[in-house]
Amino acid sequence: MARQKLGQHFLVSSKILDRIAIAACGEGADFVLEIGPGRGALTEKLLPRASRMAAIELDYELAAFLREKWAGEPKLQIVEGNALSADWTAWGEGVLVGNLPYYVASAIITSYVLRPGALRHGVFLIQREVAERIAATPGNREYGYLSVLCQFFAEVKLLFSVPPGAFHPPPKVDSAVIRVTPRADVPEVDRERFVRFISECFQHKRKTLRNNLLEWAPRDVIEAAGGMDRRGEQLSPTDFLDLYRKLEMPSQVVEAAAPGDEPN
Ligand code: SAM
Repeated sequence: MARQKLGQHFLVSSKILDRIAIAACGEGADFVLEIGPGRGALTEKLLPRASRMAAIELDYELAAFLREKWAGEPKLQIVEGNALSADWTAWGEGVLVGNLPYYVASAIITSYVLRPGALRHGVFLIQREVAERIAATPGNREYGYLSVLCQFFAEVKLLFSVPPGAFHPPPKVDSAVIRVTPRADVPEVDRERFVRFISECFQHKRKTLRNNLLEWAPRDVIEAAGGMDRRGEQLSPTDFLDLYRKLEMPSQVVEAAAPGDEPN
């Protein structure tokens, strides 16, 4: 009996399972970390491609079932736990993969892109609408907080769609597989604070940056930074960093705009 509360929609399409395993591991991977193995349908496809594997499952009954199922398999470790509190930096070099429980998909992906450790990419099956938001570009209706956060810290690629019929029980929505590859060259920034800043810029999506940022910085600093009539949806991920830096180091901006510099 599937526990809908835990987002239990099990994949039954062998073709889709193969495609996810190939997208995650290619020809093979030293280490694969799976989130939410469920009854092990994807685990089964990943195991032959992995030298070593671990899988984190929250449902204690499923974790016990998997331990028994693979009791004689030394290369697989079943971890009973919550992927939401996982420390991705604690695992070695490898890849992350999962048919994610939809109620926590964004939170899991966000925590991964912020601190990916040595897990070089994540391949996730998620709600299609969330996948589109993550991959959306500036000016697009779906572009927002999640797009900026994910694309600033990672490269994102929408791979393919998955219809409800590929699952049992079928979810009410379409799904999609995305690959998220954390960037090696993320500029030096206080990650938590920068993420709070992005969130602040999109607090009211239809409002200008000026109105959204009134509680973030003093009015004169906001005006000195310039471009405050724009809305968050018009800025690229790197534009957000530029703006953040201007507001975090106001003295440099104010000096640059000192009265003596003004054109006559
Ligand atoms: N991988 C299986 C498949 O494709 O058939 C199951 C995928 S099902 C969508 C999501 C799985 O994640 C379920 O087994 C569920 O119990 C588990 N799960 C739900 N919340 C979780 C969490 N916070 N941490 C780890 N696993 C979780």
